[in-house]
Parts: sequence; structure tokens; C-alpha cells
Amino acid sequence: MLFCPTCANILMVEECPESGLRYACNTCPYVYNIRRKVSSKTFPKLKFAPSVHMEELFLCNSKPVLQMSP
Ligand SMILES: [Zn+2]
Repeated sequence: MLFCPTCANILMVEECPESGLRYACNTCPYVYNIRRKVSSKTFPKLKFAPSVHMEELFLCNSKPVLQMSP
């Protein structure tokens, strides 16, 4: 189980058509593409590497409507 590096909530695994599975945060727009090989349970020393992840974030932003509201 992974936690969001920005808001510390639990990341949910969900499917992303563009890149396969990814972790996504429910409370902030953070996503982490699993295809990029998560080598360990904790994030490598990168602290939300800005540009790359932001681009993917926008590419994969076709999130289905969540049934749950916070
Ligand atoms: Zn978050």
C-alpha cells in the first residue's frame, strides 16, 4: 500500500487506459503510474518530480466519475 507523498492519504489502484495501472490519490490530483516500475514500497528519493509526473497527470486525467464523495 502506498501513500500520497503530497497529502499522505492512501493511494488507490485504478486503471488508466493510456498507461495501465496507476496509483491515484482521492483527495489531490496526484497519480503514480505503476508501469514505471515501482521498485519498492516507498518512493525513491524523488519528491514528486514535477514536470514528468505533471504531464502524465494531465494525460491520464480521464478519470471515471467517482461514486464516493469525500
Ligand atoms: Zn494526495
